[in-house]
Amino acid sequence: MARIYIIDVTNRDGVQTARLGLSKLEKTMINIYLNEMGIFQSEFGFPTTKHEQYYLQANLELAEMGVLQPIRLGGWVRAVAEDVKKAFELVPGIKHLNLSISTSDQMIRGKFLGRKTREDILATMVEAVDAARACGAETIGVNAEDASRTEIDFLVRFASAAKEHGATRFRYCDTLGYDNPFTIYESARTLAEQVGMPIELHCHGDLGMAVANSLAGAKGVIDGGQDAYINTTVNGLGERAGNADLVATVLAVTKSKRFSEKYQLAKPVDLTKAWKISRFASYAFRVPIPINQPGVGANAFAHSSGIHADGVLKDPENYELYSFNELGRGEPELVETGREICSGEYSGISGFSHVMGKLAVKFKDAQEAEEILELVRYANVEAQKPLVEDELLFIAKYPRIAKKLLTLIPLE
Ligand SMILES: [Zn+2]
Repeated sequence: MARIYIIDVTNRDGVQTARLGLSKLEKTMINIYLNEMGIFQSEFGFPTTKHEQYYLQANLELAEMGVLQPIRLGGWVRAVAEDVKKAFELVPGIKHLNLSISTSDQMIRGKFLGRKTREDILATMVEAVDAARACGAETIGVNAEDASRTEIDFLVRFASAAKEHGATRFRYCDTLGYDNPFTIYESARTLAEQVGMPIELHCHGDLGMAVANSLAGAKGVIDGGQDAYINTTVNGLGERAGNADLVATVLAVTKSKRFSEKYQLAKPVDLTKAWKISRFASYAFRVPIPINQPGVGANAFAHSSGIHADGVLKDPENYELYSFNELGRGEPELVETGREICSGEYSGISGFSHVMGKLAVKFKDAQEAEEILELVRYANVEAQKPLVEDELLFIAKYPRIAKKLLTLIPLE
C-alpha cells in the first residue's frame, strides 16, 4: 500500500519569504527538531548560495555523526546543469536534491519572455537531472513550478522525461495556491497513474486551502498507486500566504474523518514535539503563532462559553478532537520575571558562566569556556536576539560544528 511522507521545506520556502529569515544556527535547530519528530526529509537550504555552504556542510556532518539521523537533508536548486554542478562544488557531500523549473505557459510567456519554449524547458530539466546523476545524487526530485497552471499533458511528458533520466520523484507545485481539493486530486491521480512515479505535493495558502489540497493531492497520488510526499513548513510560514502547516497537516492526515483508514503516514510523526518546534520557529522568525492556529494556537484548547466549558469538563472529547498532551502542551513554563542574564554578541565570561551554569554545563577549564563564549557571541551576531537554551547547549556540545556553520566568508 502506498504511503504518505512529509518533506518539510521551512529552511527553503520558509526562509525565502519576504520579511522572514533564520540564522544558520536556527536553521540547524529546525533540522534537529524535525528529526526528533520523525519527519522524513528537511529541504535544508540552497547549495548554490555561497553563504549557505558551511551551514549545509556542517549539517551533513551532523548527519554523518548520527545527530541528524534518520532524517534526509535535501537541497533546492534551479533545474539547470550548471547550478547542479555548482551545488556539488560548494557542498560536495550533498546526496539529495530537488531541481526546479517553471512549466506553465504563463511562466514561459511571462517569465522567460519568449526565450524558452516547452521543448527548451524539457531539455534544460533533463540536462540538469543527468548532471545530478553524474555528480552522484542519490535521490533527485524534479519540481514543476506553477504545475497547477500547466496543461496536464505537458506535465505528464515533463515528469515522464524526468523519470526516464533517473529522477526519483516529481514535485507538483501549486505555486500560487490556485488548486482546490477537487482539481488537485484529479491532477495528482492522473500524474501518478500515467507517469508511475512517487509525487510530491507542494501547496500554498493563497485561497486558504494548503492543508486541504495537500490531503486531496496525497489521496489522488495514492489512489493512482504511488507514494505521496507532502511539503510542509513550521507554522505554515512561506511565500505570501504561506505553505501547508506541518502540525495541521499531520493532524489532518491522522485525525480527520476516515482519512487514515486508507491513507497513512509511512512513519509516525511524534507530535509531542509540535509545541516545541512551533514555539521555536515563532521565536526565531519573530512571527507570533496565531491565536487560532490548529493544535498550537493559544486558543486551540481554550473554552469559555458556558455550554462548551461545561461540556469539555465533563468529557474533553465533547469539544476537542485531540488532546493537548499529544502536542506536547500542558507542561508549566518558567518565565523569568526578575533579573535575567541573556547571551548577546557582547557577552562577557561572567554573565556567560552564569547562564551556562543554570543549564548545568561544566567546562574543562577557563580556555574552553572562553572558546564557547566566542562562538555564542558570533551566533548572536547572526541571530540578533538571545539564544535559546537548546542553541547554547548545541554550541557547548558541538563547538567544531557550530564554528563551521557560523562561518561566513564574503570575500576571497
Ligand atoms: Zn513554495
